[in-house]
Amino acid sequence: MQNGFSEILFAYSEEIRLRIAILIQNSEVCVNCLVDVLKLPQSTISRHIGIMRRANIVKAERKGANTYYSANINNTEIGKLNKDLLKTYSSHIKNQEPFLTDMKNLLKQKDVCTVDCKVA
Ligand SMILES: [Zn+2]
Repeated sequence: MQNGFSEILFAYSEEIRLRIAILIQNSEVCVNCLVDVLKLPQSTISRHIGIMRRANIVKAERKGANTYYSANINNTEIGKLNKDLLKTYSSHIKNQEPFLTDMKNLLKQKDVCTVDCKVA
């Protein structure tokens, strides 16, 4: 019986996916902003987001022509586990590179985002 709990750890097993997760932890971020901050092709980022969505740790919300990504921290068991994992991760790594620079760049990026990302 699959409950999805171990898939979360697989989803976090590559640093790039952890970087994405930290960026969207308290935010709703469009793919263009993720491309600009992470400096990777959109196809690469979309592939990683696909893995994260299948593990149910990322939700995608479509508004008009744009899709915004955020952490799934809803009131399900997976959402609550993900929230706790992200809280633990970020308390240990938010002042470490590359996460520190990623967050600084996202805060700059949101000012030039043309589709109004919500960055906390
Ligand atoms: Zn944006």
